[in-house]
Amino acid sequence: MCGIVGYVGNEQAAPILLDGLEKLEYRGYDSAGIAVCQDGKIKMTKAKGRLKVVGELTHNGETLPGTLGIGHTRWATHGEPSDVNAHPHMNKENSIVVVHNGIIENYLKLKNRLIEKGYEFVSETDTEVVTQMLDYYYNGNPLQTIIKVMHRMEGSYALGIIFNDHPHQLYAVRKDSPLIVGKAKSGNIIASDVPAVLKYTRDVYFIENEEIVCLTEEDIEIFNVDEEIVHKESVRIDWDVNAAEKGGYEHFMLKEMYDQPKAIADTISPRIKDGKIEIEELGLSDEMIRGIRKIFVVACGSAYHAGITGKYVMEDLARIPVEVEMASEFRYRNPIVGEDTLVIIISQSGETADSLAALREAKGKGAKVLGIVNVVGSSIAREADSVMYTWAGPEIAVATTKAYSCQLVSMYLLSMKFAQVLGRITDEKMLNLVEDLKKIPDQVELLLSHKERIQKFANRYLAAKDIFFIGRGIDYAISMEGSLKLKEISYIHSEAYAAGELKHGTISLVEDGTLVAAVLTQEDLYKKMLSNMVEVRSRGAFVLAVTQEGNDEVERASDYVIYIPNTNKYFTNSLAVIPLQLFGYYIAVGRGCDVDKPRNLAKSVTVE
Ligand code: GLU
Repeated sequence: MCGIVGYVGNEQAAPILLDGLEKLEYRGYDSAGIAVCQDGKIKMTKAKGRLKVVGELTHNGETLPGTLGIGHTRWATHGEPSDVNAHPHMNKENSIVVVHNGIIENYLKLKNRLIEKGYEFVSETDTEVVTQMLDYYYNGNPLQTIIKVMHRMEGSYALGIIFNDHPHQLYAVRKDSPLIVGKAKSGNIIASDVPAVLKYTRDVYFIENEEIVCLTEEDIEIFNVDEEIVHKESVRIDWDVNAAEKGGYEHFMLKEMYDQPKAIADTISPRIKDGKIEIEELGLSDEMIRGIRKIFVVACGSAYHAGITGKYVMEDLARIPVEVEMASEFRYRNPIVGEDTLVIIISQSGETADSLAALREAKGKGAKVLGIVNVVGSSIAREADSVMYTWAGPEIAVATTKAYSCQLVSMYLLSMKFAQVLGRITDEKMLNLVEDLKKIPDQVELLLSHKERIQKFANRYLAAKDIFFIGRGIDYAISMEGSLKLKEISYIHSEAYAAGELKHGTISLVEDGTLVAAVLTQEDLYKKMLSNMVEVRSRGAFVLAVTQEGNDEVERASDYVIYIPNTNKYFTNSLAVIPLQLFGYYIAVGRGCDVDKPRNLAKSVTVE
């Protein structure tokens, strides 16, 4: 998920690797390392922490001679950030070395098979399995060996690989993780992202899924899995380095919104097996799940909103009572929690101070604690009894988008798993849910492709003073997130209201032209919502509606409609959130706000 750089040419590789990795530092990482091959010998330096440490250990690369090398900045997914788990990973004979971005989903199965064959593992990573498999299948032909291993791997990967008996060749391959190749004057370079190569070249090849590249000092050869040569045109990059860091997007927030289809797919796919939900890392046996009488979801900010959605889904699907509470409240109020309570702590950073304190409070009272966390090895991940990681990758923008979306689908997965174990769902219904779940990434992508429509609408409301978001049931949960997204980055006052509650006071604030965003995706609440929209509209509100395709009557009760693709009633939040994120984003951009770093806010809230 983080950075890869590789080089083969006539200059010393190590300084080029360090320089390229430095250009990828903005993405966030927890450890770094480089490996260089000289005269058929591979030497490697890697360490937990900043890239600077590797620079210091190698005198900026000087102590590692050789003109062929690979480097990596790691964002841990499997195994905590540590020196041993840092990449590159070598086989026992030090003859094959690998760097990897992504996740090998079936790594445990492959690892166990290799252990049976006598392989020993030194790290906890999924990546080491790739190295050992390459070792196991190696027949002297790197291309054939890589293809063989590709056929056995499930998941996502961009790999940089060196075989010491091919000391002038650099291999790389990708599936669902980015990889580019650049042609420089002194040789050729691979990287996971454009900024790493811009110093050396502006002509890059974008490698497609399941293409394998073999680089030498002079040549770039690209193959498909049938070992046939693939011809490709290079692309001239004309962005500056600053824009390149954001993948050409204007802000990290926009880039991260666009990361969502992949992030959601990465979070879902390892947990679906044969039409059923399997969460290997859950740490709860079926018997333990049956013994749970109550669930608390404890979190802050957007993660708290993901918890509220989770409550609606879990209670309806699995029929277990769920209470959602802000961590800052939970920790100080002596909550009634016991051994038959499951406490779910949701946090992107895994360091949120209030959530961590709540975790300790719950554990102290004997509850079982499950963390839903994005950062591997973070405090909440370490202290919880078990962790379900959201595979969103590093999130740089302060306002969360992709981590939140992954938290949502994690709550769906958990709810489906519990419903499955408790026998509250038929096989057929489960199959339908799984099918709908798998469609979410493409549906999100489709919604993102209509961004201009929302941008146009947002531009009309740049001067708004108050904006209300209303919804019922699960739509109320997404209204809260829409409202927070807007206010935190645009500084426009905004509130989310359960639509039926509005008339008990707040409706007095609605006047001519007040913008009310109404979310109505739930069939059984549809008519009620229409009435609430008419109520505010007849008091002068301008109503923006977000609804499922086919709900044409909405046009009559609102002034502007955004349709989301059809999905089942539990998953609509994952789609409705996209126009709401875009709306907040474009309002903030239009008002000239610092979108990625809003005033007074920090990414990881480590204070009370
Ligand atoms: N899954 C690998 C690991 O945890 C690679 C992570 C990355 O993409 O940086 O080591």
